[in-house]
Amino acid sequence: MLVGHLETKILPLWSGLRPSTSAYLRVSITAHKRASTVSLHHYHHPLTIPALARMASSSIVAQARDAEAESNVTPTGYKPRYIDIGINLADPIFRGVYNGKQRHDDDLAGVVGRARQVGCTKLIVTGSSFKSSKDALTIAKQYPGTVYTTAGIHPCSSSIFDASHPSSHNSNASNQGDDTEEAEHTPACDPDPDAPIPDNQIVDPAKTADIIASLRTLITTSSSEGDGSNPSPLVALGEFGLDYDRLHYCSRTLQLHSFSAQLSLAAELSPQLPLFLHSRAAHHDFVACLQHAFGPRLERLERGGVVHSFTGTVDEMTELMDLGLYIGLNGCSFKTAENCEVVKAVRLDRLMIETDGPWCEVRPTHEGWKYLVNMDKKERQVEIEAQAQAQVQTNVDSGTETPKTDSDVPTENSNGDVKRRFPKKSKQPQQQSSKKSQKKESEVIERFKTVKKEKWVEGAMVKGRNEPCLIDRVAKIVAAIKGVTVEEVCEAAWANTTKVFRGLDDS
Ligand SMILES: [Zn+2]
Repeated sequence: MLVGHLETKILPLWSGLRPSTSAYLRVSITAHKRASTVSLHHYHHPLTIPALARMASSSIVAQARDAEAESNVTPTGYKPRYIDIGINLADPIFRGVYNGKQRHDDDLAGVVGRARQVGCTKLIVTGSSFKSSKDALTIAKQYPGTVYTTAGIHPCSSSIFDASHPSSHNSNASNQGDDTEEAEHTPACDPDPDAPIPDNQIVDPAKTADIIASLRTLITTSSSEGDGSNPSPLVALGEFGLDYDRLHYCSRTLQLHSFSAQLSLAAELSPQLPLFLHSRAAHHDFVACLQHAFGPRLERLERGGVVHSFTGTVDEMTELMDLGLYIGLNGCSFKTAENCEVVKAVRLDRLMIETDGPWCEVRPTHEGWKYLVNMDKKERQVEIEAQAQAQVQTNVDSGTETPKTDSDVPTENSNGDVKRRFPKKSKQPQQQSSKKSQKKESEVIERFKTVKKEKWVEGAMVKGRNEPCLIDRVAKIVAAIKGVTVEEVCEAAWANTTKVFRGLDDS
């Protein structure tokens, strides 16, 4: 009775889980129907039957998802760990606000929770203006030990240096002026939608001094709040740099001025902070500015830096690595075959990974997508084989089946579709027969339910809004392109990141 209750009342609630997870849970319940304990043995997550019965509510879904996340291991048994070095959690979109309109509840906690579930336990939240830098620090206070931040002025936000710009940049000021400073920017992956603005913006030296003094105050105040046991969450100066792909927000002259002024500040800080850098279609000027501030070999750059969201050429990337800089890769780095050749050439000891969410997701149109499809196909096959083995063992244990071999092993047909073969007496989990589940399974693994923003529900991801929990896709694609394991990518990125951005490694 109880088992029947579990199967009819609880299993449908698991419909958001991966089919293999639901199947495992069902197998476990069936296997132990005469015992007092349901052991979700695959997840090392034992639960008693009464406990399961009590949890016959939506809470079981969250618990099962946690158990599923704990099983987020590679086929070799490695449990990945990630640091998302570039995630724009201060963007209002993570509060449910799109283009100034509240479209759904604030779900920042869900975003951070999903990241943690996949092993992305450290998030460096990008500050790209005064407002986002301050908001990032506020978020960091809510998630100590998980959220870290940067503070700087992005090239696309650098019109604040224009003599005629109305924004107030006093770091102690209220939000006055921040709205103009925080104008919507096009995603970094997308081309310039408008013509560049005329390069006649005028730099006001007094205004520059005021902006840089405010940035210095923001950084030093935050740094002084930390101590040995509780370091400041502010781990880098940035995001700053040059973006000649998007000259419709700020002219080249003003971008160069903003970059140089912030580099001077970076060089003067004592101790220095690592740099979180942005360079797009501006390599020559970018390197020249860095060399002007820190020397031809960047010998005066004490803490190094990362050029994030890299989309340049192999030669450009090699020059940056030779200068001692690190390369940050995200979905934008896999757009074309040429991009993927660059990824292949990034040395493991110079690699960091990121999502740059809400932007820069890996899309099916990107060259990198096919690498992800292949990796996920292999992962699924391993899971299904293990699932079939567990099924057979279950039936043997319960005396309903004698051991079988080949006929129980799921196979893939030539289209890559998985044919699941279960022993005759097994029923498929209930949700498998629903109309929804008959939809063709996604060609890549989707760990969490994803909906349009208009259909948002608690716990769901939003279509088109990239999140840190998707960083495993970046790691898988980098591994596949470079011909190394996911473990090698994750561990190299972790080591590089904790070496440059101090205070993150508390393991
Ligand atoms: Zn950027």
